[in-house]
Amino acid sequence: MTHFPLRLRIDGQALVSNWRWLAGRSGPAACGAAVKANGYGTGAGEVVTLLRAAGCRDFFVATWNEAEAVLPLIGDASLSVLHGVQEEDMSGALASAARPVLNTPLQVRRWREAAGGRACDVMLDTGMNRLGLTEADVATGLLDGLAIDTLMSHLACADEDSAMNERQRGRFAALAGSIPARRRSLANSAGICLGADYGFDLTRPGIALYGGIPRPEAQGIIRQVVRLEAQIIQRRRADAGESVGYNATFTAERPVELAVLNIGYADGYLRGFSGRGRALAEGAVLPVIGRVSMDLTTIGVDAAPHLREGDWVALDYDLAAAAAQSGLSQYELLTILGRRHQRLWT
Ligand SMILES: *Cc1c(COP(=O)(O)O)cnc(C)c1O
Repeated sequence: MTHFPLRLRIDGQALVSNWRWLAGRSGPAACGAAVKANGYGTGAGEVVTLLRAAGCRDFFVATWNEAEAVLPLIGDASLSVLHGVQEEDMSGALASAARPVLNTPLQVRRWREAAGGRACDVMLDTGMNRLGLTEADVATGLLDGLAIDTLMSHLACADEDSAMNERQRGRFAALAGSIPARRRSLANSAGICLGADYGFDLTRPGIALYGGIPRPEAQGIIRQVVRLEAQIIQRRRADAGESVGYNATFTAERPVELAVLNIGYADGYLRGFSGRGRALAEGAVLPVIGRVSMDLTTIGVDAAPHLREGDWVALDYDLAAAAAQSGLSQYELLTILGRRHQRLWT
């Protein structure tokens, strides 16, 4: 087999430990797991397998082809498809063990007419104005007689101390209280951190499972799951006065030892790390020097003199720090990785 030149090292124990903490914080509510976007880039199949073994029984994907990929691993757990059902999804959805999360009056009618009383989930909009039925939709009797497993809503500002959180919680409790359903679910990762009041019957964490820090409450507890490793293609030295990389954004003030890594923005190591990112090797912190290119990144290795061509280094990818460094969100940083990487679960 061809050698994979880049690696994502994924810590399964950290993933399970993060889920257990989120389950504890969910109070009496069951704790599920969002595994959409291929488990936020880590590999949805492995995530489902590990979390099922840990006791997780509820999984969430965005689309029916994401559902198809994980269903063989779901066993007796439940799987919900957050985007609901378009006309083109119906034959697949009816043949699938997953449940749609119905978001619009048309989706509700479509399911009611075709699914013969089969259970579904329903999303309510409580102020985010993203997906979900409005209070007015519900008041028309649209949901009467529907077999609803889980009634959901989604928080817009849970990662902030916003008055909107309590407002959405109150609206959800009031609206959901008038609709028969087996379970109610509101909180994502950040919502779980807001407190057990937000748990209802089922929580839906995503980012924190994978090492993202959604709120300060999770700081120091949520463990890093994904590490990014690249290989040195060339070692070189730039003399004082010489520049490094595209647009010569870095000029050496004194001679510097350099290593050129086989990773760049086409691998998800974005240009925002130019001159700011860091690699870690031999116990040293090694700065990214100059611009990140499409497939290559140069680091300064004065502090790690033994590194050679062919050696592997870890890029510093602590999500919270990398987000602060790059100006991107922890979500973007995770989901952008992985097309050219081998995923090594440990
Ligand atoms: C993605 C998603 C989640 C998970 O959110 P995180 O912020 O990653 O914890 C939960 N619920 C819905 C509806 C989502 O789309």
